[in-house]
Amino acid sequence: MICPVCKNNMIAVEYRNIELDYCTGCKGVWFDSGELELLLESHGLEEVKLFLDNILDSPEAISSEKKRKCPICSHKMKKTTIGEQPKILIDVCSEEHGLWFDGGEVTQLIRQLAREPPPKRDSREQVISFLEEVFEAPE
Ligand SMILES: [Zn+2]
Ligand SMILES: [Zn+2]
Repeated sequence: MICPVCKNNMIAVEYRNIELDYCTGCKGVWFDSGELELLLESHGLEEVKLFLDNILDSPEAISSEKKRKCPICSHKMKKTTIGEQPKILIDVCSEEHGLWFDGGEVTQLIRQLAREPPPKRDSREQVISFLEEVFEAPE
């Protein structure tokens, strides 16, 4: 798969049977919907569809950041935010192919989580804590 930001070939990173695509150039991460589903299911969450629908239904974030193209269908992805203070801007394919995190965004999320553990663990936070584990795991 090709990185939507810098057009490098992304590498597949496997962690706990979930595969992510990672760009070594810009450190961006692609989360395939199918993989996301597996991840949430492995945490016993059944509202995977709801999780994606929530993201897709959330209002488009206003941003000067360039639109990314989905690495699967190459349609322009929608920008939306997750997390709190500051909110993290992510890209989501409206065809439900997956989510894109820019390199800095993953680190931002991890820092947020380290600073302030979330009071409740909803499906979005499950994704965040998974990313935290992946990127803190030894190579
Ligand atoms: Zn890249
Ligand atoms: Zn797509």
